Amino acid sequence: MKCRVCKKTDATLPEGSKEPRFCSKCWNTRLRQLFQEEDRFRVQRVMRTSDAEKHLIYHDDHEGGATAVGLAFALLDRAHDQLEVSAFLSNRFDWHASVPFIYEEGVECEVEILDVFLGIMENDLVAGWRPCGWSAEITLCTDEIFWIDSSDSNAEEGGGDDAPA
Ligand SMILES: [Zn+2]
Repeated sequence: MKCRVCKKTDATLPEGSKEPRFCSKCWNTRLRQLFQEEDRFRVQRVMRTSDAEKHLIYHDDHEGGATAVGLAFALLDRAHDQLEVSAFLSNRFDWHASVPFIYEEGVECEVEILDVFLGIMENDLVAGWRPCGWSAEITLCTDEIFWIDSSDSNAEEGGGDDAPA
């Protein structure tokens, strides 16, 4: 298999991954830093059905990764083989903070953490579905995410207004 970046050299990296994707030259000059930055995100799939997934998103810089900085839903429209992603990101985390990357010959480039996340979204959340097409709607939430769970209350049989019909 050839490197996905230069498409010339045999792919050998990253080590330990099922499918090597990059050659060592591209890895060392461009990709390792991005992977290290992506590794600081943790995406936890908390629900999966045949047509949908829900993920919680954590980042090491936010409370040591203890609480989520966002959540994402993926919904597959099977009739059109189209994946619709909705992501809700908490503004308690600085998505616009920039991360410097040093490329070959010392060229430096700043990338926002949001862009690192978008790469994860495309490569992890979307790619797993292998859809024909996809779109994503990203909402930066101005408040803390909070949760309501029917099992937390002593509601009567049948639940509250949120119970499905
Ligand atoms: Zn390469």
